[in-house]
Amino acid sequence: MAAHMGRRQFLLSLASTGAVCSWPSMPTAQAADQTTVNRTTQGVGVKVTGIEILKLTSHNAQQALYLKILTNTDVQGLYGPIDQEAALFVDRFFGSHLIGQDPLAVNAFWDRMFRADRHSRGSHFIMGLSAVDNALWDLRGRLTGLPVYRLLGGSRQTVRAYASCLGFSQEPAALQAKARELKQQGYQHQKWFVRDRGPKQGPAAVSQDVEVVRLLREAVGPDVDLMFDAYWQWDLPYALAWAKRAEPYCPRWIEEPVQTANLEAFIELSRETSIPVATGEHFYSRWDVHKFLKAGAIQVVQADPEWCGGVSELVKICTLASVHGAHVIPHGHSLHAAMHVVASQPVEVCPLVEYLIQKMSTYYVFEKFQPHPVNGVMTLSDRPGFGIEFDDSKIKDIKVVHWTQS
Ligand SMILES: [Mg+2]
Repeated sequence: MAAHMGRRQFLLSLASTGAVCSWPSMPTAQAADQTTVNRTTQGVGVKVTGIEILKLTSHNAQQALYLKILTNTDVQGLYGPIDQEAALFVDRFFGSHLIGQDPLAVNAFWDRMFRADRHSRGSHFIMGLSAVDNALWDLRGRLTGLPVYRLLGGSRQTVRAYASCLGFSQEPAALQAKARELKQQGYQHQKWFVRDRGPKQGPAAVSQDVEVVRLLREAVGPDVDLMFDAYWQWDLPYALAWAKRAEPYCPRWIEEPVQTANLEAFIELSRETSIPVATGEHFYSRWDVHKFLKAGAIQVVQADPEWCGGVSELVKICTLASVHGAHVIPHGHSLHAAMHVVASQPVEVCPLVEYLIQKMSTYYVFEKFQPHPVNGVMTLSDRPGFGIEFDDSKIKDIKVVHWTQS
């Protein structure tokens, strides 16, 4: 009937039924009490009261930094290990901005901080913001009793890991033996590093870097994905030559063949090879990612939730990548935030997490529940937040540290 009315007549008819400008009825005193209880358990009224950067030292002098966010309740947020560059910015800048804030309003805080400093678009500033964002997500999880991946809408409790083989010998027999061993351990995906040679060594170096690919394919057969990371050590002609000769061995991707700043080189390499091109561990925020995706420069985004802006930003990056049909496989210098974001996304967007075999063997020494793949698969816990709990038996000393101006 409304379709046959004029606009003014239609609005008047709504007003006459009370549908316009109707105020909600006020709660009774008893209902108000109940509302207060429910709202407190939902985190309403919770405020940040302080931050602490904890420096943990083990009995064998290993050290790690964790960020704790304190509130006016007995619930705290915890995240780590965090990089020292991030810790410094949290201590010197973000801490004072956090006090008194609603810890659930992570998007609002992120946006305010990104506008708060003219150098906020990268580097150590956004590493600090990432640490805060991740600790706030942990706090949100602890307030609600839910793991972060569930808060993000995820349903997967397991995520597949790829073996990241930094530091292993590339002597041919040792290389093939380790690749076969990892396959036997259940890893269906392995990444190897081709960063020790490059244009400086002349044309023979390309042949040697192609031979690494051939040896690995020979060792694992056709059904294991092989990825290669050149960590900025090549130039475009070297990358083009390597890609042309490596294509028959079907690498799943070539990572950071040239410096990430060189967008044009990524565009040309992506145009010239069938091997997917990856980068992103040095992306800061969704805007860096957008430039590469819009230009068709990469097919795999490796944004790191401890460097790109935290869980909040990585989720936005996943949405952006899904529009372009690209994968997001976060850089794995740390795992908690990466695992939870990957588990929150469709496998078609986030198929894998990186597991740096050598680094991770000691990285989480202070934690009771250390993330570790079994048969190449990581299982997320049901503990609230990121589920981080300290193992007191591993801690010789905990200090709250500060970086002061001298
Ligand atoms: Mg890398």
